[in-house]
Amino acid sequence: MSIVFYHKKTIRDVDVVGKRVLVRVDYNVPRDEAGNVTDLTRINGTLPTLQYLLKRGAKVVLMSHLGRPKGEKNLKYSLANLAPVLQRLLDAPVAFCPDCVGAEAEKMANDLQPGEVLLLENLRFYKEEEKNDDAFAEKLAKLGDLFVCDAFGAVHRAHASLVGVTKYLPAVAGFLLEKDLVMMRKLLADPARPVVAVMGGAKVDDKIGVIKNLLPNVDRLLIGGAMANTFLYALGYDMGASKISLDYVDLVRDLMKKDVAKKIVLPEDLVAAAAFAPDAKYRNVAVNRIPSGWMALDMGKNTVRTYAAIVESAQTVIWNGPMGVFEMPVFARGTEAIAVACAKCQGATIVGGGDSLAAIDQAGVGYMITHISTGGGSTLEYLEGKHLPGVEVLQNAR
Ligand code: AMP
Repeated sequence: MSIVFYHKKTIRDVDVVGKRVLVRVDYNVPRDEAGNVTDLTRINGTLPTLQYLLKRGAKVVLMSHLGRPKGEKNLKYSLANLAPVLQRLLDAPVAFCPDCVGAEAEKMANDLQPGEVLLLENLRFYKEEEKNDDAFAEKLAKLGDLFVCDAFGAVHRAHASLVGVTKYLPAVAGFLLEKDLVMMRKLLADPARPVVAVMGGAKVDDKIGVIKNLLPNVDRLLIGGAMANTFLYALGYDMGASKISLDYVDLVRDLMKKDVAKKIVLPEDLVAAAAFAPDAKYRNVAVNRIPSGWMALDMGKNTVRTYAAIVESAQTVIWNGPMGVFEMPVFARGTEAIAVACAKCQGATIVGGGDSLAAIDQAGVGYMITHISTGGGSTLEYLEGKHLPGVEVLQNAR
């Protein structure tokens, strides 16, 4: 695989006793209207790191982003609600600071006792965060003696709390980040063959680079979701009112002319619906038989059978993105079938991206997947062969 393999120091390699440890986590969690956390996956993922630090008498200062407040203080995106949740999960005192830099944050960080936690307010209340502003990074660094990155979901971004801060503090990886990096290395450095990639979802722009990089390395690439619509459209099929990324049609057409494109597998049938609605009329149709004005919202029965068989018999599977509009139960069958096929596969299975994780959850097969990555965009950029700025800057292991 043409991806970068990292060997980074972790919290196991440094002394943390009595130190203020500034940990960058990814608590960009789903919440309900009232701001209550509705899914704990991302928080749970960081618990091994936090428990390790607390057990060794470190003073833990946590920083994260949440949503897109665009550099403005907007309490809709406050992390305050997470403090009691963390306190319960960690069984340790967790204080909340209504700012992430400045005098109050510094005082609270300095007053921490070993075994205590301080959660800082949303980093993205400052526009300096996303600009990787040096002065802002320096202010963040005042809150710790050591920096730990445990935010795999964010390491593809060169932001102040991920990159800038490492200019001022020794920087190592936490266990969640380590797990993602080690598992990718183990499974992808010399993958057992056949290697099958399954790509779905809606955004072709995110995935076209990944597809180009993966094609020479995989034996089969199965395409589903709205992305398949764009491929079928580029091949000349009438896709009716289906979702298509028109800007990428030419690129896809060029790609399909290349020799490696023989590895690409596209749907032969689809579930077409009269409207984008959970109660819309729908029908299983061949790809060249979409009724006028209808849209493809899931893979068809024959395609599901073919794709599932290929996944089940693979030795390595990489899956990212749903195979249809899985949020609507009638159009979730293709996605659930891939989740189950991953579970039945005897080889290694790697699943990344929020929607695929939700599908794995929905199908109840999470415990049968070899590696579930917490990263979405970061997993894709990594598979694309790109360097991850937030990982690059961490100290190398010897
Ligand atoms: P992405 O963020 O690119 O992984 O896309 C995920 C979204 O793609 C999900 O919300 C799905 O509902 C959507 N999606 C998948 N297949 C289709 C389809 N055939 N038509 C419209 N949206 C789709």
